[in-house]
Amino acid sequence: MDELRQKLFYEQKNGYDLIDTAERLAVEDYCRGYMAFLNEARMEREAVAKAAALAEERGFVPFEAGMELKPGMKVYQSNRGKSLHLAVIGEKPLSEGAVIAGAHIDSPRVDLKQVALYEQDEMAYFKTHYYGGIKKYQWVAIPLELHGAVALKSGEVIDVVIGREKDEPRFVITDLLPHLSQDQMKKTMAEGITGEGLNILIGSAPYADEGKDRVKLAVLSILNDMYGITEEDFLSAELAAVPAFDVTEIGLDRSFIGGYGQDDRVCAYAELKALFDIETPSRTCVCILADKEEIGSEGVTGMQSKAFDCFMEDLCESQGVALRRCYEKSFCLSADVCNAFDPLYPEVSEKRSDAKINYGVGICKFTGVRGKAGSSDASAELVAYLRRIFEREGVVWQMAELGKVDQGGGGTIARFMSKRNIDTIDAGTPVLSMHAPFEVTSKLDCYMTYKAVLAAYKDR
Ligand code: MN
Ligand code: MN
Repeated sequence: MDELRQKLFYEQKNGYDLIDTAERLAVEDYCRGYMAFLNEARMEREAVAKAAALAEERGFVPFEAGMELKPGMKVYQSNRGKSLHLAVIGEKPLSEGAVIAGAHIDSPRVDLKQVALYEQDEMAYFKTHYYGGIKKYQWVAIPLELHGAVALKSGEVIDVVIGREKDEPRFVITDLLPHLSQDQMKKTMAEGITGEGLNILIGSAPYADEGKDRVKLAVLSILNDMYGITEEDFLSAELAAVPAFDVTEIGLDRSFIGGYGQDDRVCAYAELKALFDIETPSRTCVCILADKEEIGSEGVTGMQSKAFDCFMEDLCESQGVALRRCYEKSFCLSADVCNAFDPLYPEVSEKRSDAKINYGVGICKFTGVRGKAGSSDASAELVAYLRRIFEREGVVWQMAELGKVDQGGGGTIARFMSKRNIDTIDAGTPVLSMHAPFEVTSKLDCYMTYKAVLAAYKDR
């Protein structure tokens, strides 16, 4: 009977029981690189700059339309500094399709409003409008850094980072003391902290003079000293507050990684590393680092934009291939994180189908809400294809579903890729506390996400 069980039952194994010592060392090595990347790339612009720099070190050159593309050539294209396309040209023509991996590099955060700066009761603040799906109560009483860019009337763009270095000041959104919170504590968690209440404390020392708004004036003159900007320049700025936590190992056994923005830079890094490890692939390998996923993949740098199609069409044209011929034979791994089953909150999950920590990269056949709505629902054939290549390449993987039916839901870039007539399926790292200021992944799962992308890129 045991033999029959073994033959007929689907049984999952903990990834640690499937890898040897050499691979455990490879996990550690990979995660060191990932943690360094995550620490530095806290906004999409920073992720693009960092990824492009890493690519150039490995022989990638900026893509130009009309360029002659030979097998093994490595090119990249920055889309307005906020999303990035990279490709390694394969031996086969693009009429055979490309292997695409797409992750996003924007993460939930607290954006500054355009008219942000104000003084209230002799303290200075920034008004904000949050970006992406956040639980607002998680963003108060934690240290914040300021990141982004200010575009001046002259056309010059100034990059801003305050609070990343150890000796730099940081910021905070204050919360009410428990002693006076009896009314606040009766509110729901959705109402306890409001959107308009997410105001960032930025100063209190008044300018040494008479008159109104002396604290605001003092704060502005500091910003003017640092960056040469005025209050009006905030109108054309994209500034955001992100958590000021360093990326760290978590647990006595150091088996987890904790940090901000792992959704989805954990998959972005996996794609980059896999692409860098490919020499001359059979089919052309493409890596997408997309912006705006957290607000619906909108905008010129999101996956609904034609920017990606233009890049692919340019690649195709250089080989005299029609884009639609390439797309219909292409395969896309939509590399985005999934929910990890959390033993502290078992009630929202259906244990058999949720991704588990240390069980490897999670494959989502479908996402969506209320009966899979909004999901591209990949075909059974695609899942079978992944079973085949993952087994061949020793990828530890599992099926993943976003909680119980009708508990909630979500989506990724998969539906926008499949709309292009590209066979697409979601695959990504399971995450605990997803969208929180400090998210947690397991090192083994991070590494297996990289191996999953590499398996797709390597496939002949
Ligand atoms: Mn995501
Ligand atoms: Mn997300």
